[in-house]
Parts: sequence; C-alpha cells; structure tokens
Amino acid sequence: MILYCKRCLLPDTKPDLRFDDHGVCNACTNFENRPSINWTERRQQLDRILERYRSKDGHSWDCIIPVSGGKDSTYQVAKMLELGMNPLCVTATTCDLSEVGRRNIENIKKMGVDYIEISPNPLVRAKLNRIGLAQVGDISWPEHVGIFTIPVTAAVNHNVPLIIWGENSQHEYGGPAAAVESNTLDRRWLEEFGGLLGLRVTDLVGVEGLERKNLIPYFYPPVEKLKQVAVTGLFLGYFFPWDGYSNALLSQGLGFETLTHTVEGSMVNYENIDNHQTGIHDYFKFLKFGFGRATDIASTHIRRGRLTREQGLALVRRHDGKFPNTYLGKPLVAILEKIDMDREEFVRICDRFTNAKLFEKDARGQLLKDRHGNLTKINDDNL
Ligand SMILES: [Zn+2]
Repeated sequence: MILYCKRCLLPDTKPDLRFDDHGVCNACTNFENRPSINWTERRQQLDRILERYRSKDGHSWDCIIPVSGGKDSTYQVAKMLELGMNPLCVTATTCDLSEVGRRNIENIKKMGVDYIEISPNPLVRAKLNRIGLAQVGDISWPEHVGIFTIPVTAAVNHNVPLIIWGENSQHEYGGPAAAVESNTLDRRWLEEFGGLLGLRVTDLVGVEGLERKNLIPYFYPPVEKLKQVAVTGLFLGYFFPWDGYSNALLSQGLGFETLTHTVEGSMVNYENIDNHQTGIHDYFKFLKFGFGRATDIASTHIRRGRLTREQGLALVRRHDGKFPNTYLGKPLVAILEKIDMDREEFVRICDRFTNAKLFEKDARGQLLKDRHGNLTKINDDNL
C-alpha cells in the first residue's frame, strides 16, 4: 500500500521523503517552517557574500550562473543582474534540446550577459542515454551529471570561484535534514542527491568502447584545482523564498516562452520544456515510485494554497504517469531513434524497472496496460 502525505500528494515511495507522526511529509514541514526564517538576515548574508566575490578590477566575472534556459535560470540571471553582479552564464546543453528551449537560451543572452555553452559529443551522449536507461532506469543520467560538472569546470577554467545555483531540490521536494539546511552544493551533494543513482562516471570507462577521453565533460574537476580557485557554490533558494510559479511569471515578463499546451505527463506549460527526453525520465520515476511530475507540481501549488488537495488530486489523476507516446509534441519513436533504440526494447526496459507492487496485474500476474500502454496504480483511491 502506498501512503500519501496528508497535506500534499507526495507518496512514501519517494526516496528520502520522511513523514512525521501526523502523516505530513518533510517537504510540507520545510515549507511551513518558512515564516520562522529571517529572510532579511539571509539577504544581508547574501549581500556580504556577493560583495566578497565581486571582481574589484573588472578583469574577471563576478560569478558563474549555470543556466538551462528554463524559468528558474531566467529568474536567477535577472536576480543577479538586479543585485549588480556581472555573471558568466554557462549552459550544459540538454540531451535533446527543443526549439522553445533554444529560443529561451537566446532570450537569456539578450538580457545582457556573457554566455558560454558546452555541448558534449552527441554520439557519446546517445550511448550514455542508452546505458543510463538500461542500467539505472534513467535516460537523463548524463544530463544530470553534466549540469553539475560543466559549470564547476567553467568556474575552475575561468578562475571565477562563486557559482550561483537555483533551488536546493532537497528543500521543496523533500530530503534529509542536513541536505535541506545546506546552502551550498559540492561534490558530496552531487554524489548524494544529484541523481547519479550509484552509477559513477569512472564505471563507464571501457563500457561499449568508451574511453576516458570521451567522458571529459562528465568528470568533476580534481580537488587540487577546486582548492586552487577556491570554488564555492550557493543555492539562491536559501536566500529568497523560492516559488517556481512566480519565477515562471517573472521570466515570462522578461521574454521567456512557455508552451501553448500542457506538457505531457505534467499539468502546466512552463517547465521541463527544453528536452524531449524528459518525458521518459519522468515516466521512469512513475514506474519506480508510483508518482510523476504532475504530483510534484500539484504539491508545490497545494502547499502555497493555490490549489486544494482535491483539485490537485483530480489533475494528478488526469496527467500523472501516462505512457510517454509523445513529449513536447515529438513522437516517442523519434525520441528513441536518436539513442538507437526501438519501441519494443524501450517497453522491455520499462517493464524491467516497473515496481510491480505499485500497479494492477491480471490473473496471471502480468502488468495490466490499456491500449496506450498506461498502467493503473494500486490504491489510488486511498489518496
Ligand atoms: Zn507533503
């Protein structure tokens, strides 16, 4: 049986999520603790940090901002410019960049920043997508590694020690207390929470003909170099109350484009719109843990009182965990073709990573699927 948080819609199958004696999850408790946070004090703390790192002679950038082009990174850039910082924005290109994602990257440049983009070798990347999907059930494994390693490497190479990350995902979406309190992101955070799922980059040398030299973008810089530049990172979400929706509104006012339709498997049109593979990534979360992106998003809106739990639940039932026949309008077979995989192999991998305990089965113990390939979650009415 899956247990759900009494306030939001997160299930107890979510890794690292903890529930208190009243059945409330720690993502909700973290949010409810916000009024006790002294934001003025944190703002002063941030001002002191920024002052310390601001280039005195104008010979170097003040900070690195990792940007995907999404609503949050658009907001991060706007915030840093507002605070008088001169950032170098760094993009690690997504695995299968959408057209709207490309336009949103161009929009960030137009906000008036220096910008670099690292696009790892697409042939190697396709291999890594396939290995990630087959070995740990995560097509986005190389992307999750690269979005952390590439900006840190840029910090080292350009001798810019301060990296401005966005949200501490452990805070809004639940995670261990120590990770929630953290306002920094380092190699340990990356290994523990960065979504590497126990597959290390070093493990890949020798797999499918991959050599060390093919994996350069995915390696974290060596400790000596990090120390030499004294690289440090902070989460902006520690210093300002974070809200993805208000970030989306602010970003739209700055030229950020959303979709004209709801993102498949989600319930909104303003996030996860820059990579065609994200639908597969989110679907595997549903297969493994019984919840999808719609649950995450509905829960953030329920916590903020913008939706009742019942309204959120109705939307989750409508959108969560649908078989990813398309994503951002691109058909599944076309998405899979890019990583040299057909639909049959994909479905076999799906079945292998499905936690059968969470879904309805027929009399012979086979997973029940409708004609679109959708599964039915058990005790869904227990929410
Ligand atoms: Zn909750």
